[in-house]
Amino acid sequence: MKKNNNTNQVDPEEYTDETVSESKEKPTEKPVDYPTENFYFDHTKVSAPYVKIASKKAGKKGDVIVKYDIRLCQPNFECMDTDEVHTLKHFLSEIFYQSFKNVIDVSPNGSRTGFYITMFDGVAEETMAKVIVEAMQKIVTFSDANPIPFATETSCSSPKDHNLIKAKKRAMMFIGGIMSKGYQA
Ligand code: ZN
Repeated sequence: MKKNNNTNQVDPEEYTDETVSESKEKPTEKPVDYPTENFYFDHTKVSAPYVKIASKKAGKKGDVIVKYDIRLCQPNFECMDTDEVHTLKHFLSEIFYQSFKNVIDVSPNGSRTGFYITMFDGVAEETMAKVIVEAMQKIVTFSDANPIPFATETSCSSPKDHNLIKAKKRAMMFIGGIMSKGYQA
């Protein structure tokens, strides 16, 4: 194995969070001033479903990375089963990578209550909410006769752990919730 000459090492001082860049304070030292970090976000005061920006960071060359919190289930009340969250992940990844060249990642969160979508530059929360609703509508209207995207042994690690019926039901609940109360947390 080649020795690491540290040329690729990241200097954390070179990256800033837009919400704290003015004060130059490190988020780990004063979490109260870092409201966008998910662990410091009060999950008891939110109403799912919602779409919100979880964090926004700027690189030293000006690139801005935006991470969205897409919450489908009410925190501390319910969470998705692995098969439905897995199916939703396949659809959302497919839809987002096809639609946006600036998407970096689409992943479920650890509590299985929703997803994170990370992208360069980003769009307004309202726009993202609209895009997610459209994606969910595609899932709801997806023909049961068609195979779930990339749910094969070559493209997926657990192709048997999928459930289109539950994913569709969850997508419908998301659309209904956003339509009735809006996209805010
Ligand atoms: Zn998979």
